Amino acid sequence: MTAKKTAIVTGSTSGIGLAIANALAAEGCNIVVNSFSNRTEDHEIAEKIASDHKVKAIYIEADMSDPGACRALVAKAAENFGSVDILVNNAGIQHVAAIEDFPIEKWDSIIAINLSSSFHTIAAAIPFMKEQGWGRIVNIASVHGLVASPFKSAYVSAKHGIVGLTKTVALEVATFGITCNAICPGYVLTPLVEAQIPDQMKVHKMDRETVVREVMLEKQPTKEFVTVGQIGAATVFLCSDAAAQINGTQLSIDGGWAAG
Ligand code: NAD
Repeated sequence: MTAKKTAIVTGSTSGIGLAIANALAAEGCNIVVNSFSNRTEDHEIAEKIASDHKVKAIYIEADMSDPGACRALVAKAAENFGSVDILVNNAGIQHVAAIEDFPIEKWDSIIAINLSSSFHTIAAAIPFMKEQGWGRIVNIASVHGLVASPFKSAYVSAKHGIVGLTKTVALEVATFGITCNAICPGYVLTPLVEAQIPDQMKVHKMDRETVVREVMLEKQPTKEFVTVGQIGAATVFLCSDAAAQINGTQLSIDGGWAAG
């Protein structure tokens, strides 16, 4: 099914992207690991995925804020592996500020990395997928692709945009054996989020459990973080043959947040 397929996961040296890369590798996919830093550790991450799962995995540096680099990432992946079967658009950044104070350069880079990069990678990958009559595109959006929160104007705009892009692409590729779907996570426990907990405990003078439940997960009805493994498993499912008729949808994994 997904074994021996080639999967590109953008922004896959940490957090959700890394978990998705591992989950797809566990299914036998060859993996293109990506970030913009090109450190020794980044290459080691690809080597570890390859040895843990007995697949091929390479690291390709590409800055997702650069349209040319986005398209070159897909071209290099196809050069190395012969084609591109699965594209997971995951790279993303955040900035929180009131709209009147929101730095213009932060707006521009959030729109570029969280939205426009997917336009470029999808445009570059679809010719390969059309040629082979099979493809899976999974865009990691957010609950903020469906509902808003204050002070996140760029992030919410980009994530709503990616949901629209997902639907449009789904319609364009529907007869080619290709699907395009979005996953909309609520608050996920990544190392980045974990690192914020001690500060939040200090600021709010609360213990870990209370600060997580009352402050961080205020809007997440289950009062539990989503895990990166749950996002990885959902991605694997969307890439499976069982999901061949799931196209253009938004899969909420948010403990019920978007239902409210
Ligand atoms: P993270 O910071 O742990 O990982 C982000 C990844 O993107 C890293 O590998 C980083 O190197 C890469 N990246 C950042 N800028 C890049 C650039 N210009 N070019 C290439 N790579 C770049 O973040 P995460 O929490 O794992 O988030 C991954 C995705 O999931 C993002 O799109 C984010 O918006 C989305 N998301 C996260 C949460 C959450 O609670 N963590 C919730 C909903 C959606």
